[in-house]
Amino acid sequence: MSKAIGIDLGTTNSCVSVVEGDVPVIIPNERGGRTTPSVVAFTHDGQRLVGSAAVNQATMNSSRTVFSIKRQMGTSWKTRIDGRDWTPQEISATILRKLRSDAESYLGEKVTDAVITVPAYFNDMQRQATKDAGRIAGLNVLRIINEPTSAALAYGLNTGTGQKVLVYDLGGGTFDVSVIEIGENLIEVLATCGDNHLGGDDFDARIVEWALEELKRTQQTDLKQDPVALSRVREAAEQAKKELSNTEKAEINLPYLTQKNGQPVHLSLTLTRARFNELTRDLVDRTAEPVYTALADAGISAASLSRVLLVGGSTRIPAVQEKVRQLTGKEPSRNINPDECVAQGAAIQAQTLSGSQALSVNSSMLLLDVTPLSLSIETVGGVATRLIERNSTLPIHYSRIFTTAAPFQSSVEINVLQGERPMAADNKSIGKFTLKGIKRAMAGVPQIEVTFDLDTNGILCVSAMDKDTGKQQSITISANDKMSEAEIQDAIRDAEQYAAQDALRREASGIGYDAQHLIQDVEKALSEKGKQLDREEKKRITEAERELTRLISKKPEKMDASDLSQIRAAMEHLRTCSAHLMQL
Ligand code: AMP
Repeated sequence: MSKAIGIDLGTTNSCVSVVEGDVPVIIPNERGGRTTPSVVAFTHDGQRLVGSAAVNQATMNSSRTVFSIKRQMGTSWKTRIDGRDWTPQEISATILRKLRSDAESYLGEKVTDAVITVPAYFNDMQRQATKDAGRIAGLNVLRIINEPTSAALAYGLNTGTGQKVLVYDLGGGTFDVSVIEIGENLIEVLATCGDNHLGGDDFDARIVEWALEELKRTQQTDLKQDPVALSRVREAAEQAKKELSNTEKAEINLPYLTQKNGQPVHLSLTLTRARFNELTRDLVDRTAEPVYTALADAGISAASLSRVLLVGGSTRIPAVQEKVRQLTGKEPSRNINPDECVAQGAAIQAQTLSGSQALSVNSSMLLLDVTPLSLSIETVGGVATRLIERNSTLPIHYSRIFTTAAPFQSSVEINVLQGERPMAADNKSIGKFTLKGIKRAMAGVPQIEVTFDLDTNGILCVSAMDKDTGKQQSITISANDKMSEAEIQDAIRDAEQYAAQDALRREASGIGYDAQHLIQDVEKALSEKGKQLDREEKKRITEAERELTRLISKKPEKMDASDLSQIRAAMEHLRTCSAHLMQL
């Protein structure tokens, strides 16, 4: 029986894990990375790149590179590339397919079963879209689970039972806080809260803003129109932020960032941790409210928490850790890598659900997730009448009798809503259907039973039945943007068709982009310092450059091993020819 994997499909980075022995281990990607950037690019020569390969070419190909697709899940967002519309499900499926293929290379066997995690705040459509993405990627999605639940499961391996725990998850693009209870054979999510638009990217943006202002102030240079320079600043800002998690000062050094009046402009700045904390204080402060709300919803005070878990790369920021201490009065636990524990928990859950191998500690562990928002239907006067309260434990089944508002009304529209507001219009309508054939009667006489069934993936089925006539109508929530079965099947076929090509292209594309970067660096150096070379040397460099350009112009899917070794040799040759130039 093949192994089931756990996937943390993140906004910024994704991570895959599998249980080996009794331990969830992280599966490295083909470059050896333990997390993979959730970035997809469509190159002009028909390749689809995922991860670092996509990030590396993003500046040159920004309109065809997709970042943070997770933010668009469950919406009608589409991007048109080469005359074809791509949905968020399909873009996410491209990422999932790559993760699956990395897992297959690591395990040396085919992988189909997976558990995928989503933020606790994801609504129904976002969960359904994630499940569809998994299917398009050829995965059998055993379950969609909340990220904090998954992290807790990873911690559940090495913590005792009977504890109430707060999970504080600050990743690249989302913030989630959950209060959970770890029981003997049970992890129950008591409450969740969060902010879908708060994460490490915002911290990077603050450093970028600061650096651009410094550049304007000291060198009267504006980079707004220079995307290549901007992306270098962005990259350096993230790097500085990470360094500041361990040091008090970080240098941002970007020589030849841009040109002004024909002169090169260099950026050289020192960012102290104190200044960084000032620049980002309000972001850190924004995490307080959801913590208070989650505690209040769970009906507990911070004092009754046994533990606080830190999840997500951004919890490495010292000011964030300090904030958590201040909010909870507890020293947060960090004994599992915050970037990896969500995937590890998903792997444990995948193992448990697939039943391929009993896990000694968690084989019978049951997960109780909660619905993040209340579910209602619209009733007379545009009121949202609740059937399922937020933070109800899943799965849940609930029925209630409604009636008609007008005499001899023969049909009712069931408008299903998600949200906390009392009026229907203020909530999100996630599906509508009409129950026809209601028995003719005075207003208030017919008995219409409305049933909500919310499964363990958080996917909702709503049905309505006239108890007199037995007429029944139901929907599994489908937003306008939800893909039809036929569309999903098309997308699965399309993705499978690409799988064979992807394996071939992966290696070729990596080397292709390294070569392009080398050519760009040489070009840049030639334009800045070429005048200092004699004609012969310049000629040698341009010829080596031309040869490399010729070799990489071949489509990656048409390349074979000998093409790759020729490219490697040509890169080496260009490096040798331009060594003197680069040192000038
Ligand atoms: P995740 O979504 O959990 O992978 O978190 C990704 C975010 O964590 C990105 O914004 C990273 O820049 C950030 N991150 C990763 N490592 C560090 C670090 N050492 N210090 C601060 N932020 C980090």
